[in-house]
Amino acid sequence: MKWASHIAIGKVIADALELSPGERKAFLDGIVEPDRHKERGNRDGRSYRLSHHDPSDRVIMLHVWMARRSMLRNDTYQGYRHLGMALHYIQDKSTSKGFLGLTHERREEKLAKVEPSRDEVMKGLKEHASSSEFVRRSLSEIKPLKDPKRIMAQASYRSASVAAAVIDMDGQTHVKKDYARARRKHALATVPLIIGSLAIGASISILWSSPYPMVPAAVLALIAVLLDRPYRQLRRLAEWNGLGKH
Ligand SMILES: [Zn+2]
Repeated sequence: MKWASHIAIGKVIADALELSPGERKAFLDGIVEPDRHKERGNRDGRSYRLSHHDPSDRVIMLHVWMARRSMLRNDTYQGYRHLGMALHYIQDKSTSKGFLGLTHERREEKLAKVEPSRDEVMKGLKEHASSSEFVRRSLSEIKPLKDPKRIMAQASYRSASVAAAVIDMDGQTHVKKDYARARRKHALATVPLIIGSLAIGASISILWSSPYPMVPAAVLALIAVLLDRPYRQLRRLAEWNGLGKH
């Protein structure tokens, strides 16, 4: 996607969110930054250039988390800058690369003439949930499209709902209460159940000099770990709300 298209979507979102001049500048700088200096990734100790037109969800989530953590620290400058960078990749993800990229350039030219959809932005701002889970799900639903109007509508909608998710701080007190309760339950029930069943299995195994009593114990421990999934999700939500890793 061309700069003009990224900036146009960014401006509609910035207007809708009524950003201050400083926040607006950080946001719009962020939204074109990935094209300015190509970002570098690191794999196996070697640095490589991150592909732009095929941004991985991992890179997008990295910027989303950096944006969210900055917002929690009240560092809105870094917050809006990283949010802008995440949205850049989301918008690139909305456009199909086309067959061997041959039609890509032409499509981008056409796309640059399409106005971002204000209605889709307003809809996206409204239809969001403030969690990393929501952002992850939103990313997985973005399709590489070919029609310029549909690309613009999707990019506007997904950009706005991810922006709203990152900015929304309303859930904090509610999550704080739920998390405190879940942590107590986790410490009093789940952890002792896992340790206890493995310990009983181990002691019977020693007593009988047979490994078999460990089997039902391990199955029970595994069930406890699986049942613990909602707790782990809540822990991520707590982190999303600045409650730290515990
Ligand atoms: Zn790009």
